[in-house]
Amino acid sequence: MEKQEVSFNGRCHRDARIRLQMQRYALDLAEQLRSELLNNPAIARIEFAGETRRFAEIIRQIDLVVQSETLSALPDTPAIANLKNAITDTGLQLNIRFARSENFIATWHETTGNSQYINAFNEYANSHNAGNFAGIESEEAMYSALGLPFVPPEIREDAEALRRAVAGNIPKLIENSDLRGMLHIHTNASDGKNSLEEMMLETRRLGFKYVAICDHSQYAAHVGGLTPDEVLAQSEEIDRLNEKYPDFRILKGIESDILPDGSLDYTPEFLAHFDIVVASIHSSFKMPKAEMTARIIRAARNPFTTILGHPTGRLIGTPAGYEIDIDEFINVCADCGKVIEINANPYRLDFNAENAMKAAAKGVKLAINPDSHKTQTLADVFIGVQSARKAWLTAEDVINCLTLDEFIKNYVRK
Ligand SMILES: [Zn+2]
Ligand SMILES: [Zn+2]
Repeated sequence: MEKQEVSFNGRCHRDARIRLQMQRYALDLAEQLRSELLNNPAIARIEFAGETRRFAEIIRQIDLVVQSETLSALPDTPAIANLKNAITDTGLQLNIRFARSENFIATWHETTGNSQYINAFNEYANSHNAGNFAGIESEEAMYSALGLPFVPPEIREDAEALRRAVAGNIPKLIENSDLRGMLHIHTNASDGKNSLEEMMLETRRLGFKYVAICDHSQYAAHVGGLTPDEVLAQSEEIDRLNEKYPDFRILKGIESDILPDGSLDYTPEFLAHFDIVVASIHSSFKMPKAEMTARIIRAARNPFTTILGHPTGRLIGTPAGYEIDIDEFINVCADCGKVIEINANPYRLDFNAENAMKAAAKGVKLAINPDSHKTQTLADVFIGVQSARKAWLTAEDVINCLTLDEFIKNYVRK
């Protein structure tokens, strides 16, 4: 049996440059620099712009806009010099724009980009005799001065976003607070670090109302996949915890391996025990594209499958992953009402925003799942929300936004 080992905790990302250009690390560095700079009394305000504000998947340049009435360059204290070096040493560009208060908003907007979007915006503003925004108090005020709905920075990626704004066609994008259900997380019963109760309590603390525990299935023995007996023991533990915490609900899920022939791990009789099934590929990555597509499509058509997990298997910045025909896969999911995952692990973001947008356009529902293996990464789910926003998704597109009752009615097999 051919198996490709996949590290789920980032150990496989040895290339520091790629790691630092990833959203989360670049944002961390940008945040450190911002708080250091804010110690300077001559600086009134600092905002992220560019890729950092648009939440690009890979950040190559950190853009900050600094509001100061007196400064026009960075004061070089040792702490600031260290942070600048930490940023540039790893291949990230650092771009800092200074603006006086009256030009701050216009500068921030322009630096947020991207350039295609800003060109379209400027053209529109000039043709409406409103090219000068000196003294304007907020971006919202800029847009309403032009009679346009506000365009969230995540979707300012092309002229099309501006065209849609002009047509009054900007949807209310999903927000963190729309999420109610945490789906697809692991515990120490398989390869997680924390107990079921610890994971559940942290999920509840983050404001969620229910969680679906989806440990690995037995085929994934190298990551502690659960034997049927272990599943039954976990099921009893879930019943016990559901009694102990009546204000919260734990659902019984599994991340069932998609076997090389496209069937799911466990027998159909046993799969019927679960409330939800996330079906994922963790092995035999080297199949030709047509075979891999047939494999994942067979899993999508399996009546026990609820969600297709990390559908392309990519790990950002590595060659890991496999090839599938994305359009065919989306069409089948649309046809049989299956949900596609936006895996919010920052190394995965799989489906990416482009594919998630395609899926939603076909009426496919998405699930935003942290696939987290310890309490500290449960909040990664919000990185998935950013990705979903880049895909123009609304709360209606995402099943985690359902109330527990709606979720059970629509997705729990009984
Ligand atoms: Zn997985
Ligand atoms: Zn998983």
